[in-house]
Amino acid sequence: MVVMKEGASQAQVEAVAARVKDVGAQAHVSRGELVTVIGVIGDREHVGNLGLEAEPGVDHVVPISKPYKLASTQYKRGERTMVDIDGRRVGGPHFMTIAGPCTVESRESLLDTARTVRDAGAQLLRGGAYKPRTSPYSFQGLGEAGLRLLAEAKAETGLPIVTELIDVRHTEAVAEVADVIQIGARNMQNYGLLTEAGRTGVPVLLKRGLSSTIEDLLMAAEYVLKEGNENVILCERGIRTFETAYRFTLDLLAVPVLQEQTHLPVIVDPSHAAGRRDLVEPMSLAAAAAGADGIIVETHPEPERAICDGPQALRAEHFADYLRRLEQAAALAGKELQAV
Ligand code: PEP
Ligand code: MN
Repeated sequence: MVVMKEGASQAQVEAVAARVKDVGAQAHVSRGELVTVIGVIGDREHVGNLGLEAEPGVDHVVPISKPYKLASTQYKRGERTMVDIDGRRVGGPHFMTIAGPCTVESRESLLDTARTVRDAGAQLLRGGAYKPRTSPYSFQGLGEAGLRLLAEAKAETGLPIVTELIDVRHTEAVAEVADVIQIGARNMQNYGLLTEAGRTGVPVLLKRGLSSTIEDLLMAAEYVLKEGNENVILCERGIRTFETAYRFTLDLLAVPVLQEQTHLPVIVDPSHAAGRRDLVEPMSLAAAAAGADGIIVETHPEPERAICDGPQALRAEHFADYLRRLEQAAALAGKELQAV
């Protein structure tokens, strides 16, 4: 990482980047409030031999020892990344709420849910058009028709859309509708998919894999960041352990630990971890109090009739009260739900 002097000129930054590229390495320029930092990724020896410390405008050069570079806290020198989605922010003091059904089922239920969560104060609408199902015989989502319904829900409610990309062949169609592309737990290490999602330039919500370490998650984020896409939101959604009393073990320690390791915002999905509606609120409150930067939660007007993940969906009629309690828990950690 090359840290430029305060007030280094654009030409000096470009000159350093050009020397880096000359030896076949990549230069990622990040402009902070006071100083510009250039993240250099390439052969350590070749880059070291450049003697960049002596270049005009360079203050100092710091080696980053972690295997992830662009995602590391060091890269932003302690500054937090705040991702802005149509004026809704996540990260730093901003707590983001994302709610909606597991899967897009029909126009009526999607629009109904979208209105309910918007009126309660949720900021983004979630819903899968393409679903990664454990069984090939389960409903796989409405596909392009689902994407069209999401676009309609956005037009109707103004809520930006979070929807999952599961296959590189759908990238263009999904990127057209999504304000945030979700990469699901099962695809966290699908590196081709991460690269394509990165290239779209659309913000990416990256969920932790079922059996992935925190470092694996940060390496996956690095794939997106490496494509020049700086808007990555990480999501803890529960991991597999020996415990079978609930669907997954929600690893809330991952929240403060990730926030120590990375500048990226970290949100929590209590729904998929719990697998049961009654556990969703306690885990949401715990996540917010632990300092999570937001929540992504499943909600349905009639969970009994949901095609997918009904048992864990909050009842839409209870959503507004749930959100008020969540707001109080987030306040304990010094974070605010932004009124839209
Ligand atoms: C989802 O959000 O609907 C989903 C499938 O989540 P995960 O990838 O975390 O299982
Ligand atoms: Mn689901």
